[in-house]
Amino acid sequence: MMYLLYVSEAAYPMETSDLLDILTVSRRNNLRDDITGLLLYKDRQFIQLLEGPKSNVIGLHRRLMTDPRHTSVRTMLSGPLQERQFNNWAMAFYDLSKVDQRHVPGLSDFLQKPFDEHEFLKTPNRAYRFLLNFKDMPQHA
Ligand code: FAD
Repeated sequence: MMYLLYVSEAAYPMETSDLLDILTVSRRNNLRDDITGLLLYKDRQFIQLLEGPKSNVIGLHRRLMTDPRHTSVRTMLSGPLQERQFNNWAMAFYDLSKVDQRHVPGLSDFLQKPFDEHEFLKTPNRAYRFLLNFKDMPQHA
């Protein structure tokens, strides 16, 4: 098993329906492919954690690279995975502009600035730790 964490930029501002389209297909495919993880969206930026069998994660990453709904897909961290972090989620999702800040430690700091992918790219382990805050949160969609 492996994990892969990447950031990307939405090709256009995502409406709720655009995000739901992505999630519906993602959850269907990820159940089939034994992939779990988390997708966050804010200010036209995505950050996504993928976990699962190596060949399936690599296959999904290839599809993601050619998806015209986002650009600048950049891998921040990847490696072997001992234990899934989002075991129960074919793809957990949060639109960060709609999350109650009290539920996520560090989120209020995070939201005061624009979603800064450059900052994340410089500190990928911090980004990974930030994502883990969402493990026990109630779901949005
Ligand atoms: P279909 O959904 O049937 O799509 C067929 C083709 O049409 C694909 O090439 C697709 O990219 C393209 N397409 C579909 N809808 C649109 C649209 N509205 N505009 C332009 N092109 C479109 N897929 C997963 O399986 N798991 C994930 O976790 C996952 N996460 C994603 C996260 C983000 C931020 C984005 C943008 C996409 C994500 N996807 C995910 C979708 C992925 O990029 C592929 O589109 C999808 O896996 C292809 O599934 P499919 O073969 O069932 O094709």
